[in-house]
Amino acid sequence: MDSVRFLRALSFAAHKHRDQRRKDANASPYINHPIAVATVLAAEGGVTDEALLLAALLHDTVEDTDTTPEELVEHFGAEIADLVAEVTDDKALDKDVRRRLQVEHAAGASDKAKQLKIADKVCNIRDIAAGPPSDWSVERKREYLAWAESVVAGCRGINAALEGVCDEALATARAKLLSGL
Ligand code: NDP
Ligand code: ZN
Repeated sequence: MDSVRFLRALSFAAHKHRDQRRKDANASPYINHPIAVATVLAAEGGVTDEALLLAALLHDTVEDTDTTPEELVEHFGAEIADLVAEVTDDKALDKDVRRRLQVEHAAGASDKAKQLKIADKVCNIRDIAAGPPSDWSVERKREYLAWAESVVAGCRGINAALEGVCDEALATARAKLLSGL
């Protein structure tokens, strides 16, 4: 792992997301989320692949900021830009269509994109349990967990440790919703 490249990707993502916040009640800095996704891959999924870890840091830059795929190619190369493209929704489509396409496209994604998708869902599932969007009903949280589980279903078979981490995150989040906390 080239730590200079890793830090350049982290700085690039931090700059691009600098004015954004997550949807939790405390409006956490957005960059905490890409950092959490890369950390889940490395620390819990045992991932050491540099392209995958850098793509994790950059995974929401094209979807949620003015970053272009060309910019990612220029700074980080085609493999990382392609991985980010694989986990980027087409924002021109309706949210319901985007959600359906994520489920349909998961099984056809590359092995690295599948792991990135699982780690992204792990972090969002944990956020639903620990710092959910403040205006979401319990029903909406339940719906999100069910949808995330069906995306992850198409990503299984590559990284058993990561899949176990996701199953645990889902069980913890569901237990928390059931207990009404
Ligand atoms: P989203 O599904 O877009 O919101 C969840 C996304 O927001 C996550 O995937 C995550 O994406 C990001 N996010 C940011 N902060 C948090 C956080 N604290 N916790 C969890 N996720 C966070 O919700 P939308 O509002 O866009 O609605 C999309 C869908 O919800 C539609 O399909 C709609 O039909 C449905 N809906 C359901 C309602 C209900 O009451 N049941 C009401 C309204 C809509 P990332 O990783 O990219 O940051
Ligand atoms: Zn994300």
